[in-house]
Amino acid sequence: VTADTFAADPSTRRLGDELALFSARLYERGWMPGTSGNLSARLPGAPDRALITASGRDKGELTAQDMVVVDAGTGDLAEPTALRASAETSIHAAVYRATDAQAVIHVHSPYATAVACRAGRETQTTLVRLERFELLKGLGLADATGTDLPVFPNWAKVPRIAADVSDYYGQVPAAPPGLLIAGHGITTWGKDLAQARNRLECLESICQLLAIGAGEIRVRDPD
Ligand SMILES: [Zn+2]
Repeated sequence: VTADTFAADPSTRRLGDELALFSARLYERGWMPGTSGNLSARLPGAPDRALITASGRDKGELTAQDMVVVDAGTGDLAEPTALRASAETSIHAAVYRATDAQAVIHVHSPYATAVACRAGRETQTTLVRLERFELLKGLGLADATGTDLPVFPNWAKVPRIAADVSDYYGQVPAAPPGLLIAGHGITTWGKDLAQARNRLECLESICQLLAIGAGEIRVRDPD
């Protein structure tokens, strides 16, 4: 994002600062190792656009300038920039297309990734049954007694993962506000970055319980 954009629209600068702050906190927890992971949010004044963290940057040291403006529905760059948007931007766009998300967080947090390794398959979507955990109440589900967390194949071509995501969430409105990608990581969303982060914490904690054996990892095929 250039200084001109910030001068024209202070709310974009505030959102850029917020993305940098959330990113640094998640990095410090070890959930964005290397330069991995990305955060985005719809622009307050232009909800068909989103601001997303740039690719290849250390996620602990981003500033508001290290963000890219993209079309929220496609993930395509919406403004000329010298920065790169991650290939994973297409997954954020799939979530914006298929849900009412205002903010999306994708990280490689260890326990969610462990469950994604154990429950995922190479070429087929699977569902992990989540039941009984108190923290299910933090996900905003219509029925907090249980849900099926989808695990999508980690296709080499990321837009193929994105297509799986938008197809699934278009067909299963009761699906939880989070998903796993096999052997890769977790994506969550909400009405703002704080809610997306809270839901991420709940799912990471539930996956921690599963990974340390506090419940069986029950995997099935989608209906
Ligand atoms: Zn990733």
